[in-house]
Amino acid sequence: MIVQLAYKHELGVNNVQRTLLRKHAGVSRFTYNWGLAQRQELYENNSGKNRYTNAMKQHRLLNSLKKTKFPWMYEVSKCAPQEALRDLDRAYHNFFRSLKRGGRVGFPKFKKKGRSTDSFRLTGTIRITDNRIQLPRLGKLKMKGKNHTYHGRILSATVSNRHNRWYVSVLVEEEILSRTNSSPSTVGVDLVINKLAYLSNGKIFENQRHLKSRIRKLKRLSRSASRKMKGSYNQAKAYARLNNFHYRIGNQRRNTIHQLTNHLSSNYGIVIIEDLKVANMVKNRKLAFSLQDAGFGEFKRQMEYKSRWNGVDLILADTFFPSSRLCNNCGQKKDDLDLSVRIYTCECGYSCDRDLNASRNLRDYPLFEMIRKLTGRWIIPKTASNKNIVVASELFLQSRGSNVSRLKTPDGENVRSVDLSNKSDVGTILDETGNEHQNYTDLIRNV
Ligand SMILES: [Zn+2]
Repeated sequence: MIVQLAYKHELGVNNVQRTLLRKHAGVSRFTYNWGLAQRQELYENNSGKNRYTNAMKQHRLLNSLKKTKFPWMYEVSKCAPQEALRDLDRAYHNFFRSLKRGGRVGFPKFKKKGRSTDSFRLTGTIRITDNRIQLPRLGKLKMKGKNHTYHGRILSATVSNRHNRWYVSVLVEEEILSRTNSSPSTVGVDLVINKLAYLSNGKIFENQRHLKSRIRKLKRLSRSASRKMKGSYNQAKAYARLNNFHYRIGNQRRNTIHQLTNHLSSNYGIVIIEDLKVANMVKNRKLAFSLQDAGFGEFKRQMEYKSRWNGVDLILADTFFPSSRLCNNCGQKKDDLDLSVRIYTCECGYSCDRDLNASRNLRDYPLFEMIRKLTGRWIIPKTASNKNIVVASELFLQSRGSNVSRLKTPDGENVRSVDLSNKSDVGTILDETGNEHQNYTDLIRNV
């Protein structure tokens, strides 16, 4: 499988190089703003097709103006303005696409010096030798840290400035081994606000509550910044400290989530998670703080690409799947379950930690989903005449170690014994049209 990977390194630069980097970032920002202004002008003063342009046309126009109007642009690589116009193209594209979907991406904004991140992208001849990266126009720059060898084609390098440090992010096209994860085990993952994740096999991943544990320091820093005289050097310093703190917290959070997603994508064949609509949930202000703290959106994003790379089947459970209200022993549902109730207890005699129960239900989601598709409800029925319902219910009960067949096939026979933890054994399920289903995942995706 060919994938694109970005590697980010801090650059070690001297003053001459720093000035040149700033010039590149300046040209990039200027071009972006120039392009945006031109687009707005075109839109206002024309009609029909003439209202629109694209990065290529704009680049041609810019080149024709360079000599007379912007001669200082010759000091930097021609890639910088070209890529800035491509970014603008993308910003427009994202805006219109989001508009169609009723999304939240805003109209492209002008970049303000000192406010927006200083950055620019270069393409063309980029070489890495030892600990140096050779960039067009900038020459060889020192990269800090170790491991600078890549096996693949370098597509581009994005240079950015953060808190007076310069970084380069190298985009590399690499061939990675497509693995088929042969692990037969299925795991359900319940994302919990004050943990991070509860796995159906009892493993718990602790969310280190990076933000919350440091909320006091954060408050102190932001208070200090807002008290400084406006526009003063001290205020700038205080804001730099605050930003740096935010940045570090973000890194730690991403790291925790990487550990969890690495574990999931390398140890299980099928991973089932809740499809949380984070954007909607963040609207709820009380929940928002904890949710963003735990980085659920980031979790889902990482899970999606790591599953693809490792050949894991990732199943997103329906948003309306009542994972915490179903009993994992008998498949019945509680009408409501207060958030303060930490232990789930059922009439059938089962009791379990609330979050563990939810993660087990997620693990069994394919069966619940099948039941729902057949009966319109998430609940495992007690009696059934439809053969598929019987099979799904049998699977559910058997996976709980129950040898007693409580449900019979329409002709009164017991369903043959199946091992739910064995992917290939759950294969011989026939659907109503008589098609055989290969496995657990296939079963749900095709019912
Ligand atoms: Zn029960």
